[in-house]
Amino acid sequence: MDRRQFLLRSSLLAAGTALPFKSLFANSQPSFTSLRRNVGYFTERGGTIGWLASDDALAVIDSQYPETAQHCLNSLRDKTDQPLDLLINTHHHGDHTGGNPTFKGVAEKMVGHENVPSLMKKANKESDGEGNTAYPTTTYTKSWRMDLGDETVHAKYYGAGHTSGDSVIYFEKANVVHMGDLVFNRMNPYTDRPSGASMQNWINILSTVADKYPADAIYIFGHAKPEYGITGEAKDLGVMKNYLSAVLEHAQNGIDKGKSKEEITDMKELPDFEHFLYADFWTLSDNLGVAYEELME
Ligand SMILES: [Zn+2]
Repeated sequence: MDRRQFLLRSSLLAAGTALPFKSLFANSQPSFTSLRRNVGYFTERGGTIGWLASDDALAVIDSQYPETAQHCLNSLRDKTDQPLDLLINTHHHGDHTGGNPTFKGVAEKMVGHENVPSLMKKANKESDGEGNTAYPTTTYTKSWRMDLGDETVHAKYYGAGHTSGDSVIYFEKANVVHMGDLVFNRMNPYTDRPSGASMQNWINILSTVADKYPADAIYIFGHAKPEYGITGEAKDLGVMKNYLSAVLEHAQNGIDKGKSKEEITDMKELPDFEHFLYADFWTLSDNLGVAYEELME
């Protein structure tokens, strides 16, 4: 990668990963799917939107992009006339918050972890784009909950993982968990170290979450290799955990053998994880670089 390509990619990533994800997760048809007890998900482009729609409550988790957020809202309007009580952002990335302006003014509450507004502001500053100023207005430090009709929704922060502002969202009665980008199902995940990501703690989060919720919980993932699905079970969290552990282990083995960063990161597919999706804009080498930097700290 030459310097110009490097700068281009850096600015794309600074823009909240909006552009690379836009092309990577292009999805021609919007898909609006019910899961359990008034909770479901919406996919079109960018991170998966979770929703709760009943006769007395309406909530969305994440917002994709302005036009796809509107498509999601239109589908929700077919289910209920309820005003939108709540938008939660699982984290600050552009493919999860880009549609916030569509929900702003419609949503009674906009919620995110306390680090999300400042990370959005930082991304705005680093990109030359117009910037998304529809920040969460209700923030929390460790945990947050709200009763919505006959459902209770929880947001919980387990420390740094994919960024330093990732919430895990739990619909208690439906027993559905939205993981945001803490799970890229069978994909080499994007790891946002400039936004405080921690691969080591990410592994802890996945263990903790898999143990915390009931065995029959349904999990919604931010992204997925299409044939593996955007929803799953606790065992899929285990696969993500094993992948991150293997990335760290490869980097640690290289360090122990006195290899250079270049030697350690020179790898296209991780052994035993060849079935994963490896995208061009964020490679295994990039993640091995993050692992190397974390371990050398
Ligand atoms: Zn993300």
